[in-house]
Amino acid sequence: MKHQLQAILAGVVPDFELGYKAELAAEINRLKREKNAVILGHNYMEPALFNSIPDFVGDSLELCRKAAETDADIIVFCGVRFMAETAKILNPEKTVLLPSRAGCSLASSITAADVRELRKKFPGVPVVTYVNTYADVKAESDICCTSANAAAVVRSLDSDQVIFIPDEYLARNVARETGKQIIFPTLNGQGNDNGDKTGFQMIGWPGRCEVHEKFTVEDVANVRRQFSDVVVLAHPECSPEVVAASDFSGSTTAMTRYVAEHAHHRYLLLTECAMGDNVAAANPTKEMVRLCSVRCPHMNQITLEDTLRSLQMNQYEVTLPEDVRLRAAHAVERMIAIG
Ligand code: SF4
Repeated sequence: MKHQLQAILAGVVPDFELGYKAELAAEINRLKREKNAVILGHNYMEPALFNSIPDFVGDSLELCRKAAETDADIIVFCGVRFMAETAKILNPEKTVLLPSRAGCSLASSITAADVRELRKKFPGVPVVTYVNTYADVKAESDICCTSANAAAVVRSLDSDQVIFIPDEYLARNVARETGKQIIFPTLNGQGNDNGDKTGFQMIGWPGRCEVHEKFTVEDVANVRRQFSDVVVLAHPECSPEVVAASDFSGSTTAMTRYVAEHAHHRYLLLTECAMGDNVAAANPTKEMVRLCSVRCPHMNQITLEDTLRSLQMNQYEVTLPEDVRLRAAHAVERMIAIG
């Protein structure tokens, strides 16, 4: 395992770390087989974990699909809580484990009660909910989406207006892509809707990802000044201004694919910084410019040590009330059917 990691991660992870991490990974992989477990790893996992123990890696949508297809008894989700909840939503009979109780600033920005209030304020308007939310919020929704399919999901609804929650920037980017006007009402009447129920087609919510909101147009300009050949790729949770200043915007998988399929030498990935390491490891002849002050504190909590403990002790098991799970499953499965 150490040689395997060295071959992929030389120059990305210090050699002295690789030996220790390779031993942990070997024990995790042994236990995984013994317990008939599958490990799903999000693109934001740190490089040694990302390249050693997951059976599948990818973005939320891809991992949702893998979670729906697996016949393993145990799913260990190396990601944050809302992702593991989605796996449980789709696999009620399986044990779903989360190595650490990692949360998410975006998922915490909205509650199920907030969604019910929005529905009261905009009766009959369908609710599209980003998968980066907790199960009880999904349960109040008509359909889910990811950053990979958000515009397609909005277009698929036969409705003049759509409530799109909770990521403000993703909503603004989708509104721009689909040519819709968007408002951001607050539930105490202080939003920018002024009580007028016409003249807009999307209703957003002011949730933010604490990682992607940090990138600025100035960051992009500074890097372009320093590296005139850099190609800038932005995640759609970045602000519309940052997306407009970039060369390409897409989900983490779309960004990974872009780097693999293009011949440019140098890239700036405006997303969680471990992903830059993972993309760099997969493309050794290309250079990733890092803005590595931007590491998600939640994704950063998932370690090989925690994953080993998770398998050894069956912790932390994700459980959901069945009525919540069933309603959330409807919204997630409707999204999966769209693609
Ligand atoms: S990067 Fe971190 S804070 Fe941002 S959406 Fe993902 S888990 Fe949440």
